Amino acid sequence: MKRVAVLGSTGSIGLSTLDVIARHPQRYDVVALTANTDVERMRDQCLAYRPQVAAMADERAAEQLAVALREQAPEIEILAGEVGVAEAAAIPVVDQVMAAIVGAAGLMPTLAAVRAGKRILLANKEALVVAGGLFMREARAHGAQVLPIDSEHNAIFQCMPPDFDKGLDRVGVRRILLTASGGPFRTRPLAELTDVTPDEACAHPNWDMGRKISVDSATMMNKGLEVIEARWLFDADPDRIQVVVHPQSVIHSLVEYVDGSVLAQLGNPDMRTPIAHALAWPERHHAGVAPLDLFEVGRLDFEPPDTRRFPCLRLAFEAATAGGAAPAVLNAANEVAVAHFLAGGIRFPQIPAVIESALVAVTDGDSDTLEGLMAIDGEARSVAERLIAEGV
Ligand code: NDP
Repeated sequence: MKRVAVLGSTGSIGLSTLDVIARHPQRYDVVALTANTDVERMRDQCLAYRPQVAAMADERAAEQLAVALREQAPEIEILAGEVGVAEAAAIPVVDQVMAAIVGAAGLMPTLAAVRAGKRILLANKEALVVAGGLFMREARAHGAQVLPIDSEHNAIFQCMPPDFDKGLDRVGVRRILLTASGGPFRTRPLAELTDVTPDEACAHPNWDMGRKISVDSATMMNKGLEVIEARWLFDADPDRIQVVVHPQSVIHSLVEYVDGSVLAQLGNPDMRTPIAHALAWPERHHAGVAPLDLFEVGRLDFEPPDTRRFPCLRLAFEAATAGGAAPAVLNAANEVAVAHFLAGGIRFPQIPAVIESALVAVTDGDSDTLEGLMAIDGEARSVAERLIAEGV
């Protein structure tokens, strides 16, 4: 029996995780659940999974949850605030932590789980984008194993030799080929992108995801964040990572070896596959995903990414290469711009414009410590808010 904490249990990845867990009640015990404000869904999950602990980042939501569970599940301990979420991530009985909070808000709780030496099932890519060097150092220091949930990184992990942490050169890996669907606007005329709505941006052709990552996929910032994520997970310089647009989302990524071999992982686009892989690793079990029917797929297409159409991808590569404060600034400015876009406050093409200006405005900071990174994150958010108020 593996004891699991699910951070972000009310979100898209959280729901898929609980779906996989529910298929294997004899294998998993859900010990902790966390969310932000969605009291109703959290109450239902608490009644279904009976965790020892439930935490809400929003303090008022925590009070409401305590009231909602008072009659039916008074034994569940309710924790509140960012500190409460971090506490739930690190409780001693937990073996593995699904890190599925969206955005930089996931960094502190995920780091708490890392420092407690848990096995980390990492969906929260923003934690690595903001603090990749620190995160991986802490994981090594505390013996916390990090298993990727992002479908691409999970695919790369599956195609890597088991001892890839010796270094890519030593294990004969030449390049990582990171596939990208191209999102909903891959072929839309550029002039029309000015007027696209949040719902259009969130209508991904292959994946059903939360709204923030859906917009990131439409701008291809998601792929940019994934380049930085891969850089840290596999200790790969950005110039060894090639983005390949593959509209069918059947090949989830590939690893190219020096002898010319290229290994790929394929499957239907359903996050329950990488989730089940990481939950069960090194074993395998059912995920509830339909088998891949290659005759139905018929063909697989590939094309290079168009960085004129998707400036966010270029900005992310530049930030990955620059290092230092740049990835944290990129992430913070993106989170602010996407939130404004989803709220109807800015237009789609303003997202890269805000990020590019923030990267020019915020260049310094101590990127070696958590405090320094949080300061960079805060400054970049203020700058992005100001740029948006000024109409960039
Ligand atoms: P969702 O928006 O669907 O869910 C986010 C979860 O995080 C919810 O449980 C939410 O709680 C919680 N949350 C939001 N803000 C905070 C906060 N400030 N403090 C604590 N918890 C918070 O996101 P997704 O599931 O789509 O994505 C989660 C992560 O996984 C992201 O980093 C994303 O990039 C990554 N990912 C997602 C994929 C997908 O298919 N969805 C694929 C690959 C990676 P509440 O519901 O109460 O707001």
